[in-house]
Amino acid sequence: MSSRKDLRIAIVGGGMVGVACAVRLMKAGLDVNLFEAASKFGELGAGVAIGPNGLRALEGLGISKTLHSEAEDYHDMGTFQFISDLPGHEFIFDHMIIFPLKNGQMVNVVLFCSDRSEHADSKELPLEKWVTAVDKQEVVERFEDCGPDTQAIISLLDDNPKKWAIHELRPTLTHYTRENVALVGDAAHASSPHLGAGVGQGFEDAHFICELLVDLRTNTQNLQDVFEVYDRYRRPRANDVLKSSAATGELYDSWREDSVAEKFHSPLGKLFGWVFDHDLRADINAARRDLENNGIWQSGT
Ligand SMILES: Cc1cc2nc3c(=O)[nH]c(=O)nc-3n(C[C@H](O)[C@H](O)[C@H](O)COP(=O)(O)OP(=O)(O)OC[C@H]3O[C@@H](n4cnc5c(N)ncnc54)[C@H](O)[C@@H]3O)c2cc1C
Repeated sequence: MSSRKDLRIAIVGGGMVGVACAVRLMKAGLDVNLFEAASKFGELGAGVAIGPNGLRALEGLGISKTLHSEAEDYHDMGTFQFISDLPGHEFIFDHMIIFPLKNGQMVNVVLFCSDRSEHADSKELPLEKWVTAVDKQEVVERFEDCGPDTQAIISLLDDNPKKWAIHELRPTLTHYTRENVALVGDAAHASSPHLGAGVGQGFEDAHFICELLVDLRTNTQNLQDVFEVYDRYRRPRANDVLKSSAATGELYDSWREDSVAEKFHSPLGKLFGWVFDHDLRADINAARRDLENNGIWQSGT
């Protein structure tokens, strides 16, 4: 059996995906160094929703039990509920997502508003602050045409809501790897939040790439070829999710009162299923066969 000592792995970025990779690789006995620019770990935002595909990837990484025990308010993912055009509700696509935290002691409220004044296809990284304080009155006014439930929830917001600018990677990357470097998570496919799929795609990347890295047949000689297989399988799906998330945002934002409920429900039902139901294990097995059949993984190496 070859020694794993020749494979030294540097993970740049200790976000959720980088840490997930580090835990899996270290448990497998690989030599891992994790580099994080921030001086300390901390909470950012109030929480993330992880879809069934993300949970399966976490199981594959061997860290879902830790997540379940640490999460204060873990729920199995049910179906989303879209409330629109019911009594007291209109077709309005400045929209809202709410979910409970801290065993129902706290509710995270995310209100989405579109502002098309910035050019979406700019090649420059937006340098202004991505998170700013916002006056609660601005929120009240922006949503004053919404139904009574929305108004009631907004009235309960604390006095210091924050405004988050949403950025996504556009155009999508044509490569996730170059030589001995591979991108995972948001570095490869930072997406808008409209499918709630961002970190789930990152966990899929992590599960996939770690399965290939922990295999004893991966070594410094074939690492580049192994990464190319990672790129070949992961990039099309993650880029599709990224594009689909943007399209979902357009769907939410562009729907107007002259639209009909039937048209609305049909596309939304289809938007999430293929993201949540994806069989990543089948992809990993296919990648393994590719590596074997193409002689990249030599048995006994
Ligand atoms: C408010 C908010 C709500 C969200 N809600 C959801 C949700 O409900 N569901 C969902 O799936 N996704 C959600 N997302 C997206 C999700 O948070 C991201 O997809 C996920 O955090 C990506 O993880 P990551 O590890 O790839 O990147 P990041 O979390 O961005 O981590 C990257 C890390 O790299 C570090 N770093 C950067 N540059 C360097 C460097 N040069 N050297 C060393 N370290 C560096 C950064 O400091 C950071 O810690 C949300 C995002 C936000 C902002």
